[in-house]
Amino acid sequence: MKHVSVIGAGTMGNGIAHVFAQAGSQVTLIDVSSEALDRALATIAKNLDRQINKGALTEDEKAATLGRLVPSTDLASGVAQADLVVEAATERVDLKLDIFRQMDAAAPAGAILATNTSSISITAIAAVTNRPEHVIGMHFMNPVPVMKLVEVIRGYATSDEVTEQVMAWSRDLGKIPVEVNDYPGFVANRILMPMINEAIITLHEGVATVDAIDEVMKLGMAHPMGPLLLADFIGLDVCLSILRVLHDGLGNPKYAPCPLLVNMVTAGKLGRKSGEGFYVYTPGSKDVEVAPTFR
Ligand code: NAD
Repeated sequence: MKHVSVIGAGTMGNGIAHVFAQAGSQVTLIDVSSEALDRALATIAKNLDRQINKGALTEDEKAATLGRLVPSTDLASGVAQADLVVEAATERVDLKLDIFRQMDAAAPAGAILATNTSSISITAIAAVTNRPEHVIGMHFMNPVPVMKLVEVIRGYATSDEVTEQVMAWSRDLGKIPVEVNDYPGFVANRILMPMINEAIITLHEGVATVDAIDEVMKLGMAHPMGPLLLADFIGLDVCLSILRVLHDGLGNPKYAPCPLLVNMVTAGKLGRKSGEGFYVYTPGSKDVEVAPTFR
């Protein structure tokens, strides 16, 4: 296959590097933090072991996958051989624009530059490069090795050839790519975030308890988890920032974030990662309880 460089070795970057290496690509995994790279390689090894335990992978395949992964803290040399670069760094516009300028300068002329952004405009990112027709969104879902969907997002200038190539490479990973256009929230978050926001408004208005809202959506809609628990898992700060992108970008008051969500984020209640959101979380335990504020 090809040489893929993945920028950002966090939650998403390690999963993206994992699936490309397992599918046979040479992968350079790049991060500014060498600790993040160490953690990512350990996570990939652990997740490959999980596949072995399920009988889905052999020890030899695990060794071959790890052998195709090279960590690096140097972006310019890390993308110099790339056919495809997938950027999965922290969700900040200034940071992503800066990374794309560097990628554009250092990657080979024909390389495709993709971003895993959840909410930033692909067109805006493409506009800082000299190859906007080669820039595209490749929105993987978390956890990447498990989830089948790749939302393939065409920026204003993305070419048909580049879109077809990225759809084909996504299929090579065993994923199911779905093509969408570049508007705020794309499709996944355009639909998911208003649902989560409505669940928070429903709680805020006292229509039902945290448990009741999640139970209705789980049992009634066959969702694997309720919207409030899902919001905690995504991170309430992430939900708020995507709702702000929808509200600003589409200019419709129906996307205004619920004041309760704003208050919780201001108070540092960010969901699972901070230990408390709509539920409380104990490190090392899978049990969750409704947070004291909502009991
Ligand atoms: P994360 O915080 O887990 O990881 C981000 C990584 O980027 C960190 O390791 C950080 O050191 C690194 N980084 C920061 N600046 C960098 C730079 N200049 N060069 C190289 N690396 C740099 O974040 P994440 O959850 O993996 O999210 C990454 C991207 O994926 C974001 O754009 C996010 O919106 C998107 N996304 C996240 C999820 C999710 O569920 N977490 C789902 C879909 C898409």
